[in-house]
Amino acid sequence: MTDYPSLHMIIDGEKVSGGGRRTFDVVNPVTGETLAELPLADPADLDRALEVAERGFRIWRKSTPQERAHVLQGAARLMVERQEDIARIATMEEGKPLAESRIEVMMNVGLFNFYAGECSRLYGRELVRPEGMRSTVRWEPVGPVAAFAPWNFPIGNPGRKLGAPVAAGCSVILKSAEETPASALAILQCLLDAGLPKEVAQAVFGVPDEVSRHLLGSPIIRKLSFTGSTVVGKHLAKLAADNMIRTTMELGGHGPVLVFNDSDVDKALATAVGGKYRNCGQVCVSPTRFIVQEDVFEKFRDGFIEGAKAQVVGNGLEDGTTMGPMANARRPEAIDRFIADAKDKGAKLGAGGKRIGNQGFFYEPSVISEVPLDAEIMNEEPFGPVAIVNPYRTEEEMIAEANRLPYGLAAYSWTNDVQRQRRLADQLEAGMVGINSHMIGGADSPFGGVKWSGHGSEDGPEGVRACMVTKAVHEG
Ligand code: NAD
Repeated sequence: MTDYPSLHMIIDGEKVSGGGRRTFDVVNPVTGETLAELPLADPADLDRALEVAERGFRIWRKSTPQERAHVLQGAARLMVERQEDIARIATMEEGKPLAESRIEVMMNVGLFNFYAGECSRLYGRELVRPEGMRSTVRWEPVGPVAAFAPWNFPIGNPGRKLGAPVAAGCSVILKSAEETPASALAILQCLLDAGLPKEVAQAVFGVPDEVSRHLLGSPIIRKLSFTGSTVVGKHLAKLAADNMIRTTMELGGHGPVLVFNDSDVDKALATAVGGKYRNCGQVCVSPTRFIVQEDVFEKFRDGFIEGAKAQVVGNGLEDGTTMGPMANARRPEAIDRFIADAKDKGAKLGAGGKRIGNQGFFYEPSVISEVPLDAEIMNEEPFGPVAIVNPYRTEEEMIAEANRLPYGLAAYSWTNDVQRQRRLADQLEAGMVGINSHMIGGADSPFGGVKWSGHGSEDGPEGVRACMVTKAVHEG
């Protein structure tokens, strides 16, 4: 049985902790009790990490594609070997069912192997020029990367943040969420154990605002990769602007799901209910606003309520649990507020609507329907186990509702009309669109949003290119 590990930062390959540093209590979301104390960086730690990252970049930018691929493949193999330990640690600190944590490890394995192949596909191009002249466009690694990962995918988020810079030939300082540090450390350790030079990837933790101001205030950092809320993303984009640091921003969403009269409602329900309560709804691409055409509205709403009631809520480490606790104390409080506000404004509560017990951060799988547009939950990302199910008449109204919000991350639709499928693919304002499917990602596919959901992509060739810059060389 894996125990929760003791915690540290990794700076220049060294495990750094103690020394009178401030600490943060990492909490078990099942009980609310402290699992371990996490050391937080002081300014000297961050300066040291920056100096090491600068050296790391000088080393790694000279590495061959084969060397980078070898490290990524080696780390992927170690993740397979360590899958069970890493998954248990993630479930202990974040709460999600063990099966979901195991999948997260395997998503990283797929991504690292894809990126390993991508190392040899970072082609430039030669331009057509008169005889005696030569012009080429080449891709070069951007420089040291500051990467900030949130707590909802404790394994997958650090995997994305580390994998792309390593494949591109950059160095990286990772600050993963203080709530889920051990999973991030386990992923970094796989890279180091696979032979990544210790200067190339480091992990710090701290007071988020202090760390981001310090790192983004340094001329050493050339790229910021952030996943988290739109509010924090906008704040960090402004900090990055002062040093003209390039950014990839993977921010909030408010996933619309359009369910048409001509769809396979049973299949839509089976997919949507599982998708909604996965990781307690704490997923940026979570299906959130169910925009249902009127003939199938009642069937869909009632089916969703049944699906919510069938969830098995419990400790993610126990067999049979389909939904664990929420990840931290802030989430159930936020969901309580959203549901109370929606009810006040006239929404109907079909299932759930309150916390479970008085230990840890459990919340009932919830469904609300006929929710007015001025309810807060119709406009802000709920990030919790609540489905909003509302009836609409026409395709035009449904598309307008899907595009109403400033978010544009994932959008889903269910229809068997091929012409409509094409119209939806054209008209939905989102970085990722699922039609009769909620599988909208993959190691080879760009993951990212438009509008307030951010810019740039992770995964796919785009994920590595986001850590690179072009240089045009013209020879006379
Ligand atoms: P938050 O907005 O304070 O934090 C979101 C993430 O950003 C956390 O990982 C946090 O450590 C980090 N962060 C916060 N301030 C930072 C700073 N100044 N510099 C660097 N990193 C910083 O709130 P929260 O309570 O952790 O999450 C609340 C909301 O954030 C959710 O409701 C959801 O909308 C959003 N969120 C989105 C994702 C995603 O995958 N896009 C993940 C987690 C949270």
